[in-house]
Amino acid sequence: MSDLKCIGCGAALQSGDETKKGYIPESGMKREDAICRRCYRLKHYNEIMDVDIDSGEFMTMLNSLYEVDGLIIKVIDAFDINASLIPSFNRIVGDKKVIAVLNKTDLLPKSVNVNRLIHRAKLMLKENGITAVDMVAVSALKNHGLDRLIDMITSHAGGKDVYVVGTTNVGKSTLINQLIKMTTGDGEVITTSRFPGTTLDLIDIPLDENAFIYDTPGVIVPSQMAHYISKDDLKHITPSKEIKPVTFQLESGQTLFLSGLARVDFEAGDRSSFTVYASNQLTLHRTKTSNAENFYEKHYSGLLAPPEIESPVLMENGKTFSFDVTEDSDIEISGYAFISVSGGARVSVHVPKGVEVNLRQTIF
Ligand code: GDP
Repeated sequence: MSDLKCIGCGAALQSGDETKKGYIPESGMKREDAICRRCYRLKHYNEIMDVDIDSGEFMTMLNSLYEVDGLIIKVIDAFDINASLIPSFNRIVGDKKVIAVLNKTDLLPKSVNVNRLIHRAKLMLKENGITAVDMVAVSALKNHGLDRLIDMITSHAGGKDVYVVGTTNVGKSTLINQLIKMTTGDGEVITTSRFPGTTLDLIDIPLDENAFIYDTPGVIVPSQMAHYISKDDLKHITPSKEIKPVTFQLESGQTLFLSGLARVDFEAGDRSSFTVYASNQLTLHRTKTSNAENFYEKHYSGLLAPPEIESPVLMENGKTFSFDVTEDSDIEISGYAFISVSGGARVSVHVPKGVEVNLRQTIF
């Protein structure tokens, strides 16, 4: 372990263990602008790698945010609001002001009512005891809504530093790069330099002459589907362009597979439409519920791929969530899909154990 930090994510650089954060091959360590292999791949190949971030160590780092004065930008993935919530966020934030940024709105189909989405996000934050002074829907990638965000930052920061926090993969780095580009005119910057020996394991980037933006590494939330598949398959389940909803008219007694990682059984109710919002690469397949188990056993890695899964996880290590859907609702499978269902249906959803499934008022 050295005291050099990756200029991409702030992790201490190390050449000892490829599976741990901050890994860099020894030869790369000598470079002036050394970045860890994960950041390198993200930057150059847009690959997503699993990194085993020790959450204890991580929370200690986040806890140190409590001590500082500044404005918090809480980044939320519009496609996965649930997994964007950081456990013990309130304790970390103390009485600092929070601006909530709903990112990746470019992925949502046009039929989504953004105001309802914002309303839902606010409710979810409230359920978690978080009050944001402002909230804005943006796409960091497409540079939508960022002017409004900059105005909000200017009006709430009062010359203080700005801390960008969020779980892994919500788009913090992309957002920061865009903000820097817009406020300083610089091209692609991950960060300006390494900060060996800073008390916070954070990366700071000059916002203007007096204030800094701090990028915090993401918190890994185990309820995300991403943790149950290989890193190669993650790109199949993570939407990368506007989601095209697919509607099925189902009868009770029918089952819908969303690739091999989720099974939705329509148990009771009148013929009803089920609309799936998920990565366009998932395989959607309808079958009879009475035949679903057999079908899954045979086809979990064949017909139902991608993603390719190694074992029939829904049978071997699955969990079932049952819902009585009384009004038009969305069933949210964390980091994987929304399924809009009309009121008056009893539905069971099978997912790998650990993945969260929630029923919410519809936003579509
Ligand atoms: P971080 O882990 O929170 O820093 O997230 P990154 O900035 O590294 O982004 C994670 C992934 O989400 C990358 O593949 C980004 O290209 C993608 N991403 C970030 N912002 C957006 C966005 O606004 N829209 C879309 N479609 N993808 C985004």
